[in-house]
Amino acid sequence: ASWFGHVEPAPKDPILGVTEAFLADPSPDKVNVGVVRLSLSLHLAYHAVSSLLIAGFLSCAFSFGSFVVVVLMLVCAYPSFIYVYIRIRMRSSHHLEDGILQNREYLPMGGSVKMIDESLKLAYGEDSDFIKDKRTAAVQALSGTGACRLFADFQKRFLPDTQIYIPTPTWANHHNIWRDAHLPQRTFTYYHPESRGLDFSGLMDDIKNAPDGSFFLLHACAHNPTGVDPSEEQWREISHQFKVKKHFPFFDMAYQGFASGDPERDVKAIRIFLEDGHQVGCAQSYAKNMGLYGQRAGCLSVLCDDEMQAVAVKSQLQQLARPMYSNPPLHGALIVSTILSDPELKTLWLKEVKGMADRIIGMRKALKENLEELGSPLSWEHITNQVNPQ
Ligand code: PLP
Repeated sequence: ASWFGHVEPAPKDPILGVTEAFLADPSPDKVNVGVVRLSLSLHLAYHAVSSLLIAGFLSCAFSFGSFVVVVLMLVCAYPSFIYVYIRIRMRSSHHLEDGILQNREYLPMGGSVKMIDESLKLAYGEDSDFIKDKRTAAVQALSGTGACRLFADFQKRFLPDTQIYIPTPTWANHHNIWRDAHLPQRTFTYYHPESRGLDFSGLMDDIKNAPDGSFFLLHACAHNPTGVDPSEEQWREISHQFKVKKHFPFFDMAYQGFASGDPERDVKAIRIFLEDGHQVGCAQSYAKNMGLYGQRAGCLSVLCDDEMQAVAVKSQLQQLARPMYSNPPLHGALIVSTILSDPELKTLWLKEVKGMADRIIGMRKALKENLEELGSPLSWEHITNQVNPQ
């Protein structure tokens, strides 16, 4: 008898399965509008179920002449690419951690300290007292997915009787992550299909009706897949209600900078919660805003009561990482820390992030105009309303 005869093929991942099908298709004319084009497809074409919209999307995308992966000049194109690497190498001789690049040594279990420090500044603010007071327990993570999974495992290990509230809809992998961490899931109202906007009253009702002290997964900005974010005023109300109910907010921030073009503006929701005195958790990803998809560069942070607690929490996060992947990858972390710690490179990065966001906003506008020109009797307002294009 076979050992593995009972193992059935797993269902295809709804997103990554598109790439598999793309790779398997021998057609020379194939076009992949799946995961690699995420910054175009998910954010532009949430309602892509309509073939009319897809037609509009395609003609609009082609008219922009840009059916290509969004690649940051800064990170991947000559000559800036060389520039970043020269900077990394120049520093290699001076800094112990960067020297790792040359001898291919392991990073520590918690990852690159410099990359974590820079990530914390992006999430909590350049001059954050939480950072100064060392209240943040943070580790480098395997991009946004790894950060979410590490947090879910931590939640399961130390708060096993809690559950996670996940918005409807959400990025499909959120469900898999908390399922595999063996934590019960509940959903909360988010999207309002009729208005193609936020169902704010439904969301507030669900926050109020959840048992006190519940864990909520919140998209910090550019909600995937809807592109619908609460306004600043609505975030304040949400934060207030979380305070009343003593809920824990876990922010998944996979698109910092993509919503408005300004990473500081896109982190507003987290800052509101911090002002209100919440302890937050935060998953950061550099896949989209630095175009580092395959480098798996991310960060998980948990705000603690004090430094002692942060040391304990960080040690436990590392403990979770050790039997899973031992230590995170080096290369992407070096790219991130080099760019963010160098004022000149950071300015270039901010310019490119703005360029990408403006391009998405421009594509949305063009798509809406194309659809209207084609004589569509439907309202396409939501295309430009989503992802805060103001
Ligand atoms: N969270 C959300 C909402 C996402 O849309 C994605 C990617 O699509 C991720 C997390 C994780 O991305 P990565 O693991 O590539 O950083």
